[in-house]
Amino acid sequence: MVILRNKQDLSDFSSSINDKQLTLGFVPTMGALHQGHLSLIQKSIEENQYTLASIYVNPTQFNDISDFEKYPKTELEDIRKLESIGCDAVYIPSNQDMYPEGLELDVFNIGTLGEHMEGHSRPGHFDGMITIVRRLFLQIKPSKAYFGEKDFQQLQIIRKFVYDEKLPIKIIGMPIFREDSGLALSSRNSRLSGSFKEEAPFIYQSLLKAKKLIENCKPVSEVISEIKELYDSSIFKLDYFIIAEEENLIPVEKLESNKSYRAFITVYAGEVRLIDNIKLDFNNCI
Ligand code: AMP
Repeated sequence: MVILRNKQDLSDFSSSINDKQLTLGFVPTMGALHQGHLSLIQKSIEENQYTLASIYVNPTQFNDISDFEKYPKTELEDIRKLESIGCDAVYIPSNQDMYPEGLELDVFNIGTLGEHMEGHSRPGHFDGMITIVRRLFLQIKPSKAYFGEKDFQQLQIIRKFVYDEKLPIKIIGMPIFREDSGLALSSRNSRLSGSFKEEAPFIYQSLLKAKKLIENCKPVSEVISEIKELYDSSIFKLDYFIIAEEENLIPVEKLESNKSYRAFITVYAGEVRLIDNIKLDFNNCI
């Protein structure tokens, strides 16, 4: 596997592939790789002639400095994992490569997709995220790029960005990879201690409960109150629990036929912020 540590090496690598009109799949990450990340990279390997992953902990998408400072960094292990699954190259840029002019953001109108959930709880997060994804896309020029549905709001914002900017990149959304317990894999899980770690599967269980209530045609407002109540007596502090339409990510109080919805949750396990979501099915109730 080729390790690319600066913009020039990256540019030589991607031009050699693009010049020969070979397909290049790209998977951006912040490292501390787990099976969720690897599932995206494996999909890219299946679908493209070359696969490039990137590892960059982007300072501008953290609104909480301590979250940024404590973000796990496991570069050697990451490289070993990427090599073991047959990834062709990894790009590990410096801040100077990504922000040559200092930590300035590119301007892109995220619109209503960024208004709720993470956009509301983490002001500026998506501006930082889209800046880095835009710069990576322009440097790499991949044929396809892979993102997890775990960060569903991020995925939808990237889809809109690529559509609005008319970039010739196919965005592939990948299902959430979970532990056997149901806990969604996350780099931040390694920061969970003691009872938070033991009880973390509760988050997915609460989503399953919401899914079941919706399948049983319970009104959205009642489902929301019931799930919120569950958290009143748990060790997790609920940031938000919302049911929103997949297309525009606007929270709803009523489900309409021919539309798709998801339940979105974010909790604090001590100081560790965990997010998850689940697709809802209400065909029974139409
Ligand atoms: P991150 O390193 O957290 O920025 O994640 C890099 C990519 O991996 C993003 O597209 C995430 O949505 C995706 N990802 C993270 N965790 C999971 C998971 N458990 N299942 C599937 N994709 C994931």
